[in-house]
Amino acid sequence: MSNSYDRYLGMHRKITRRDFMNGAAMAIGATWLPSFSMGNSPAAQEPQNETGYYPSTRTGMRGSHPGSFEVAHSLRDGTFWDSAGEPADTGESYDLVIVGAGISGLSAAYFFREQAGKSARVLLLENTDDFGGHAKRNEFHLGGRLQLMNGGTVSIDSPTPYSPVADGLLKKLGVDPPQFEEKYSDNKLYRSLGLRSAVFFDKETFGEDRLVLSPGRDWDEDDARHQNAWKAFLEKTPLSPQVQRDILRIQTSKIDFMPGLPSTEKKARLSKISYRDFLINVVKADPGVIPFYQRRTEGEWGVGIDAEPALDCWAEGLPGFDGMGLEPGAAPHMSYSAAGYANGGSYDFHFPDGNASIARLLVRELIPDAIGGHAAEDIVTAQVDYNHLDRQAAPIRLRLNSTVVRVQNVGPPNSAKEVQIAYASGSKVFSVRAKGCVLACWNMMIPYLCPDLPDAQKEALHYLVKVPLVYTSVGIKKWTAFQKLGIHNASAPGCYWSGVGLNSAMKMGTYRTPTSPDDPILIHLGRTPCKPGLPAREQHKIGRYELLATPFEVFERNIRDQLARILKNGGFDPARDIEAITVNRWPHGYGYEYNPLFDPDWPEDQRPNVIGRKRFGRITIANTDSAATAYTDAAIDQAYRAVNELKES
Ligand SMILES: Cc1cc2nc3c(=O)[nH]c(=O)nc-3n(C[C@H](O)[C@H](O)[C@H](O)COP(=O)(O)OP(=O)(O)OC[C@H]3O[C@@H](n4cnc5c(N)ncnc54)[C@H](O)[C@@H]3O)c2cc1C
Repeated sequence: MSNSYDRYLGMHRKITRRDFMNGAAMAIGATWLPSFSMGNSPAAQEPQNETGYYPSTRTGMRGSHPGSFEVAHSLRDGTFWDSAGEPADTGESYDLVIVGAGISGLSAAYFFREQAGKSARVLLLENTDDFGGHAKRNEFHLGGRLQLMNGGTVSIDSPTPYSPVADGLLKKLGVDPPQFEEKYSDNKLYRSLGLRSAVFFDKETFGEDRLVLSPGRDWDEDDARHQNAWKAFLEKTPLSPQVQRDILRIQTSKIDFMPGLPSTEKKARLSKISYRDFLINVVKADPGVIPFYQRRTEGEWGVGIDAEPALDCWAEGLPGFDGMGLEPGAAPHMSYSAAGYANGGSYDFHFPDGNASIARLLVRELIPDAIGGHAAEDIVTAQVDYNHLDRQAAPIRLRLNSTVVRVQNVGPPNSAKEVQIAYASGSKVFSVRAKGCVLACWNMMIPYLCPDLPDAQKEALHYLVKVPLVYTSVGIKKWTAFQKLGIHNASAPGCYWSGVGLNSAMKMGTYRTPTSPDDPILIHLGRTPCKPGLPAREQHKIGRYELLATPFEVFERNIRDQLARILKNGGFDPARDIEAITVNRWPHGYGYEYNPLFDPDWPEDQRPNVIGRKRFGRITIANTDSAATAYTDAAIDQAYRAVNELKES
């Protein structure tokens, strides 16, 4: 990149963005570790008690932010205890300690208190600087006005209907997804301004930069209009005539590509080939169609169409199956998500900051002094008083910036009555005791916390590789460029960021997203790093490394470059118009779902997530990994199970 192009992009501009420590430096892990010493009183030194502590307004590198993961990585590398020494006993004793304050950890605290009573003493320990885990709030004040976006978990939406437990918790928190969707999502705003979706073809992949409005969806069941809309769209793209013809066939034809077979046999065959192979070998499309479709599955599973079964893609609504006569409903050998969605799915609603509002509602229930307000609606604008989260007199305490490094039953697991938990905070290591411990963190971390676990369980916990993702929130001064181009989002099948879109329009309580294109707004960009051609878990590992090794500057340059190119004809000026950037990096993102192309079809009780989540003395395991999927209802259900297993032991 030349210096003059960097200047045009605005890389020199002072905006709210860069952390001084970037991802590349942090990826090495142990290099930044403080030298650990014995601690005295933890609460006195907690950063969360400092005046002005408000992590949701922090910009720059968020998600797995610098300072949050180095301890865990040195534990993994076997170097942590070299410099740490034995933990200092805080003298604190709890009924329950929970590791991880994501939705699963917070739900575990809620369920435990419900069963044990209001005086039950619970401590939540969380390694990052905020609660919520993936349910992360990105809070901006653009032009003096509050604007919110999800930094991770977005929607109350799941492949299967919410269970009575998960649904019951939402109800107790005052959340009614169908009613909220009806009342608070402003789905008509962008349409009323004449804005549509578009596709951006980039010159590196497609030969030239070109933005083309999508065909839209207003053909109803009219086949001719459907075909005409797609034909008109394709003619405007830089794709070759043959590729255009094949995409038209895939999108609009009613051809049975497996004639003469019953639906069950077709489904069985489609479950064993990738969608890429389906397009090339069954549909016999020109390989030139692949770049147009390759990334369609990344948002759901973290890999492209090379690593997703064609049958799962059918359930997700990808094209090419209209003439194949597939019976509706799930079939054997489908992923959890695809099988669920084939059967109908659940609600679909999101708060302005995504499921961070659920995390905040849970914290308000557990520690009322920390967040004011009474209704699910007012949680959106409520302020958190972080220095109330960890008060000595409160029955429930939440301690941030605290990485748990060891969890041990006191005595043999079968007869233990207590657990000792050690955690690192700042440059110190502390220990606390509890009658039980719920690990609501990530599966692959657990063998390092509990090295005494049986080997088979440790192996099972290591099997699931979380899906890496990055969600970026960018504040811009105005969105007149979007208006001039007539778009509210653009997918970018060949670019660094696979898509760019204006924040969803919402009005909830006193909160309102902007309605005038002359006002500042937030935009979302997403990327799923992966390595097409490899098995899914290998792709996730490579993607995770890529995320940890990417400096903020690289994310930023790609944001500026891509926005400049997509919005060029709308008059967007990246140096002038970009006000703030938050990169939410999730090297350990979605919980892994078994993939029928690569994973054995184990009986239920032999699945790694089932073996991995077994109770170990007074220690139980929650988190979505233990359900082998990545949804908020699963995080809640697993918390409920983990709390009940403690009661039963
Ligand atoms: C980008 C993204 C988008 C998503 N979108 C959706 C969506 O729209 N809808 C949906 O239902 N789900 C979504 N998910 C899935 C999401 O993972 C779950 O919904 C849910 O939020 C997971 O909650 P959890 O508590 O199980 O895990 P997490 O949210 O991962 O919480 C675990 C917590 O444990 C902490 N931790 C780990 N190790 C330690 C340690 N040693 N000591 C202390 N703390 C530790 C972690 O930092 C983390 O805060 C999304 C996930 C991502 C990453």
